[in-house]
Amino acid sequence: MEQVRFLIEMQEVMSQARRLEEEKRKIPLEVADLKSLFEEREAAFLSASQEFEALRQQRREKEREIEEEKEKVDKAKVKLMAIKTNKEYYAMLKEIEGTRRTNTAREEELLAVLSKHEEAEKRLAERKAELDEVTAKYRERMVEIEARMGSFDQDIAKILDRKRQVASKLDAGLVRRFEMIFERREGLAIIAATNYSCTGCHMNISPQLFNLLQREDRIHTCPNCNRILYYVAAEDKASGE
Ligand SMILES: [Zn+2]
Repeated sequence: MEQVRFLIEMQEVMSQARRLEEEKRKIPLEVADLKSLFEEREAAFLSASQEFEALRQQRREKEREIEEEKEKVDKAKVKLMAIKTNKEYYAMLKEIEGTRRTNTAREEELLAVLSKHEEAEKRLAERKAELDEVTAKYRERMVEIEARMGSFDQDIAKILDRKRQVASKLDAGLVRRFEMIFERREGLAIIAATNYSCTGCHMNISPQLFNLLQREDRIHTCPNCNRILYYVAAEDKASGE
């Protein structure tokens, strides 16, 4: 029966449209995921970069302090030459010794800062590489998505146009009924009846209805799942699927 053939075609076209719309619906979710991953990596990079910068400043500060203390020692040494009394001389030596001890402690602190600074530099490089990777992926995928988005609407329009053509060959009431069943039965509105059973819900079909289906002169639906049925001989079904 011609109507059955058109209904089967209608189902294919509507399934294609549904797949495209599903794909289109998922895109904003994918974009949101990509964006949040990018932001996560970016935040990790910025935090590593701040840590690195803070340690660089600490390092400079320590180096500057050590430099100043060394200058103090040098000046003190010059003064030492001009000193006349022993008392003053020993007082000055003591002061120089004190400054030297402070500097030894500062140099140890500097070493600790240097080591942290090196670690921070490594971490920063790692975060940078991760950020670069995700940025490249993000950009690449966005180019693909934009291209896909451009063709989606055209593809959907083409399919809906084909659907209209097929629908024009069918009774308007039947098309409406078909669309309703399509929505309710997850995209399977017309289905084969074979060997006295509905292949949609697997319920048995009465011999009376099965005979009517074989005659192919009217549209019949499954009494259980309401899908439109079309007759397929048992051997055809076995070899066909
Ligand atoms: Zn059924």
